[in-house]
Amino acid sequence: MRRRKPPAGAVAKAPVGLPDPLMENWAWQDRAACRDVDPELFFAAESERGLRKHAREVLAKSLCGTCPVRRECREHALVVGEAYGVWGGTTEEEREPALHARRH
Ligand code: SF4
Repeated sequence: MRRRKPPAGAVAKAPVGLPDPLMENWAWQDRAACRDVDPELFFAAESERGLRKHAREVLAKSLCGTCPVRRECREHALVVGEAYGVWGGTTEEEREPALHARRH
């Protein structure tokens, strides 16, 4: 099954260990620049590699660059340990050092 970003504004039940699903924890998504954008822009298909992956990430990050909730998005990705996709203008590879530091 392909991983998809939850729709902007979604209030989901948080799995154990994640922030409480309080409305204010997710309200920033209402102002997301990607609110009506296909989530596939932010996540690699299973077969995606190399230049194709890089080109998609550049496009996703350019949209993030216009986003008024970029900081909140990046912090969310770090808090919940998002290991996949572009969040807050960062790729999974760019977040990995910060995620590693938070785990240890
Ligand atoms: S920073 Fe990027 S991924 Fe995050 S909400 Fe904004 S556009 Fe979407």
